[in-house]
Parts: sequence; structure tokens; C-alpha cells
Amino acid sequence: MGDCLFCKIVKKEIETEIIFENKNIVAFRDINPQAPVHILLIPKIHFSTLNDLTSGDIKLAGSLIYTAAKLAKTEGIADQGYRTGFNCNKWGGQTVYHIHLHLLGGRKFGWPPG
Ligand code: 5GP
Ligand code: ZN
Repeated sequence: MGDCLFCKIVKKEIETEIIFENKNIVAFRDINPQAPVHILLIPKIHFSTLNDLTSGDIKLAGSLIYTAAKLAKTEGIADQGYRTGFNCNKWGGQTVYHIHLHLLGGRKFGWPPG
């Protein structure tokens, strides 16, 4: 994990505006936002992909989702609606191999995704 970008954000080795943090997770704005609101929520411990989660991580995964919903409210996008998603591996479009939940809002999204 020594050269994992998001582990470095967790350890505050990279300057990032943290918008939410607790014992287990950190949330910050995406450097290349795809919507007016684009936040990434990550666990402080390193998992490369969603495939690495075990049953012991269910609470942590739920906490990421719950926190995304809370942030959607504070960001003012909850009522109009928003998109959340984990990209997994190459075909899922994952580029940073430390799991992260995208929270996107402030515009209308299409379905199915591209
Ligand atoms: P993925 O494609 O893996 O699902 O998403 C990775 C996301 O991380 C991308 O949306 C990308 O813009 C974002 N990202 C990559 N490097 C950095 C960084 O150094 N800081 C922040 N805040 N976001 C980053
Ligand atoms: Zn990491």
C-alpha cells in the first residue's frame, strides 16, 4: 500500500480538502469532477477492489453508503437525486485501486451508464 494514492490521502501525505472523516472513512472531492458535486468516500484501510471485501467488512461498506446519503443532504443534492457507484476492475472503469464510492449530483444522469 506504500504507493497507494488514496492511502496517502488518508495519511495526509497529499494535500486534500477532507469534507468528512471519522474513525473508519474519509470523504473528499474528486480532482476531476464529472458533475457539480463529485465526492469520493473511502475506507481508511486499503482494499484494492470491491472483490477484496469479506463478511467482516459489511459494516464498513454500509458506513460508506450511509455517509454518502448524509453528504448528499449536506451538499443539497438529496431531493433532486444523485448517483453513487463503485467501479470494479478494468471493465468497471476502476483507475485507482483503493476502493472508493463515487457520490455524484447536481445534474441529471443517463441510464444505462456508458
Ligand atoms: P475510478 O475511475 O477508479 O472509479 O475513480 C478514481 C477517481 O479518483 C477519478 O474520478 C479521479 O478523478 C479521482 N482521482 C484520481 N487521483 C486523484 C487525486 O489525487 N485526488 C483526488 N481528489 N481525486 C483523484
Ligand atoms: Zn490504499
